[in-house]
Amino acid sequence: MCQRGAAGSCWKVYVRHIHIVGFGIAGALIAHELLRQGLRVTISDTFDSESSSRVAAGMITPITGKRLKPTWRGPELTSIAERVYREIGEQAERSLWRDWTLRRVFREPQMQTWFADRHQRGEFNHLAVHEIAPGEHDGTNFPFGGFMHGGVATVDLSSVIETVRGRVECLPTIPEQPDATVWCTGYHALYHELWSWLPIEPSKGEILDVQIPDLRIDHILTNGTWILPVPESDGSCGATYRIGATHDWDDHDPRPTEVGRDYLLQQAMMMVSHNIIVTNHRAAIRPSTQFKRPLVGRHPQYADQYVFTGLGTKGALQGPWAAQQLVALLLEGSPLDNDVDCARWWTKG
Ligand SMILES: Cc1cc2nc3c(=O)[nH]c(=O)nc-3n(C[C@H](O)[C@H](O)[C@H](O)COP(=O)(O)OP(=O)(O)OC[C@H]3O[C@@H](n4cnc5c(N)ncnc54)[C@H](O)[C@@H]3O)c2cc1C
Repeated sequence: MCQRGAAGSCWKVYVRHIHIVGFGIAGALIAHELLRQGLRVTISDTFDSESSSRVAAGMITPITGKRLKPTWRGPELTSIAERVYREIGEQAERSLWRDWTLRRVFREPQMQTWFADRHQRGEFNHLAVHEIAPGEHDGTNFPFGGFMHGGVATVDLSSVIETVRGRVECLPTIPEQPDATVWCTGYHALYHELWSWLPIEPSKGEILDVQIPDLRIDHILTNGTWILPVPESDGSCGATYRIGATHDWDDHDPRPTEVGRDYLLQQAMMMVSHNIIVTNHRAAIRPSTQFKRPLVGRHPQYADQYVFTGLGTKGALQGPWAAQQLVALLLEGSPLDNDVDCARWWTKG
């Protein structure tokens, strides 16, 4: 195993024991990859019950934003993600991955044009797209029309974390002399002297657990805000849903707010005009970046210190691929994909 130094020199490192600090989805995915390679993995984590990974809905969607852009590297990253989460599901002895159909409600007439242009160019060919005419369909309002598509999934991120955690050694602190330490502390990386230079832009997200007694849908609905059915234990969809999520780059207080709750309810009621009963309201801070890519790599000055963060709204999708990138660097010295290599943000020299 060969690793490259800051000046491009090459030296041998025999990695046997890796310690991971922080065990959200980033930490769990790195641990999973390392365990597959037969390494000793220890972890230390502050176990925040309201961490981004524990609050998240775990959705994977192939289309992004109101301009309906295909998600960056969508098909490639989705197939890696599905394989990894199904593998972890086998260890949990239940599926942690669920496929969905999603119905998009256009928020403005201009979205019809954006949709038609992309559809005509064949950008949605792999997604089984069907256009929805303006009007009401199955209790949902589509004032400017919309469309439905496949290629959408949810991942039970909390169970992914718990399943992998059952296979590693949990320690109260960083042990003496692991061969390498991987920092997976989410947005907290910003407050650590080793990683404060990373371009993380924390974004607060709020999410509601609700009952909508008069709504029975077996697909996800979105107009920017989404309504996601929470399946019963037998897999069927009842009256329980999650509604999310807000995006706030200024408020770093991880507590839910009245403003966030009202915004989500107002957006949901534009799609379904039914009584919505809020049963829970949570919030967390995502370790987002402006360029919407993960941040992984080795510290430019400390050869045994690594980082994996920058998972924003696409963390469930990008995480498995990014974890494989980092593990290939760690064990083989393979170069990272330029888009995610944290070294390009190093300015301290
Ligand atoms: C409301 C909401 C909805 C979301 N929905 C989706 C979605 O549908 N799809 C999707 O892909 N993404 C979604 N996300 C984003 C997703 O949650 C993130 O991409 C991902 O969870 C980030 O994972 P992480 O492991 O990097 O960070 P975190 O989940 O924040 O984990 C960091 C861990 O490190 C620990 N830690 C911190 N500091 C230390 C320290 N000094 N020592 C030890 N441990 C430490 C914390 O306790 C925590 O366990 C959503 C986020 C929110 C807030």
